[in-house]
Amino acid sequence: MAEFVQVIDPGHGGHDPGAVANGLREKDLTLKIALYTRDYIHELYEGVKVYLTRDKDVFVGLSERADFANRLNADHFCSIHINAGGGKGFESYIYNGSYSSKPKTQALRNVLHDTIVAETKLVN
Ligand SMILES: [Zn+2]
Repeated sequence: MAEFVQVIDPGHGGHDPGAVANGLREKDLTLKIALYTRDYIHELYEGVKVYLTRDKDVFVGLSERADFANRLNADHFCSIHINAGGGKGFESYIYNGSYSSKPKTQALRNVLHDTIVAETKLVN
């Protein structure tokens, strides 16, 4: 069986803290979530290789992150962000352009989104 290549992108990092609120910085939280998710997937799933666009507090440019995933020929790319600009709950997005694997991307997004909303009981 071919290996599934997952790239997780902890948003922000280095000189870019992302959202800052309540004594927390987005870049720290996204990194913690990404490291936890990588370890969780490696522990529980076979045939999945997880790569992170960063595994420490460094700045990585947006195109560098995309290039990294494209070089790995990733099956799935997930960028983690935590908003602090109002609103509440959980939201997820997929690339809205046209490409051949869009139905598969939509299906993966639906599984992830519905599972996270159900498990966290966050507002959808
Ligand atoms: Zn962000």
